[in-house]
Amino acid sequence: MTVAPPAVPGTGAALDALADLVSDGDALVLSGAGLSTDSGIPDYRGATGSLRRHTPMTYQTFTRDPRGRHRYWARSFVGWRQMRAARPNDGHRGVASLQGAGLLSGVITQNVDGLHQAGGARDVVELHGGLDRTVCLGCGDVADRAALDERLHEANPHFGPRVEEINPDGDAELPDEVLDGFVMVDCLACGAGPLKPDVVFFGETVPRDRVDACFALVEEAGSLVVLGSSLTVMSGYRFVLRAAKLGIPVGIVNVGPTRGDAKADVRVDAPLGVVLPELAARLAG
Ligand SMILES: [Zn+2]
Repeated sequence: MTVAPPAVPGTGAALDALADLVSDGDALVLSGAGLSTDSGIPDYRGATGSLRRHTPMTYQTFTRDPRGRHRYWARSFVGWRQMRAARPNDGHRGVASLQGAGLLSGVITQNVDGLHQAGGARDVVELHGGLDRTVCLGCGDVADRAALDERLHEANPHFGPRVEEINPDGDAELPDEVLDGFVMVDCLACGAGPLKPDVVFFGETVPRDRVDACFALVEEAGSLVVLGSSLTVMSGYRFVLRAAKLGIPVGIVNVGPTRGDAKADVRVDAPLGVVLPELAARLAG
């Protein structure tokens, strides 16, 4: 006897259409923060975004304001431990299953948490970079973030205040007087710096070659499937626009409305932790 997988309330026809889209093959995944919320990484653009006290670091503040940069690193030092403790969820594993079944042409993520890769996905394009490495704004050296963390521990043996929450870019909420007591270290390659996490901040441009590589993936795709992004920033939205312009079908799975809804051929308004295991069970089981 075959046992039907549990129904996803209110998404029957939409989920069937999404399954049809993905089963055609060469689906290109574009994922956002909503995919990682079940891993304990808050989606600051999502439903609770307006309640957050801490606005994301901008590139302008980071590069022009040494004190702001110092405070960023202090918060990031604390948030990093929580970030490293995050584990992939059923959504990440669902994407990896679909990829393993040969149904995906690629995975582009706007997330910087590395959880797609930890969940088993391969060849993930990190549109906004990754928190697992740093880049020196002085000499361009790219280095391992875990190694930096060890150096920061040595420089800050007693800096470990309670973490109230972290943001998707890995920094924590702490009072300024605590942040100012943090000791930052320099770049090992040039002896100066400043160091920056190798992620694209708000107000910063995604490197052109990375954008072009993503456009190429879109143009070769059978469909574009957006997972957990409200597509608020043009950084990801432009790929939806390109797909729609080329007549490549677009599917969007997200809780709540997205900027791309008018361009979507299939729209599923349901949690990724439910939809992706269901898709994987149907198509990659
Ligand atoms: Zn350097």
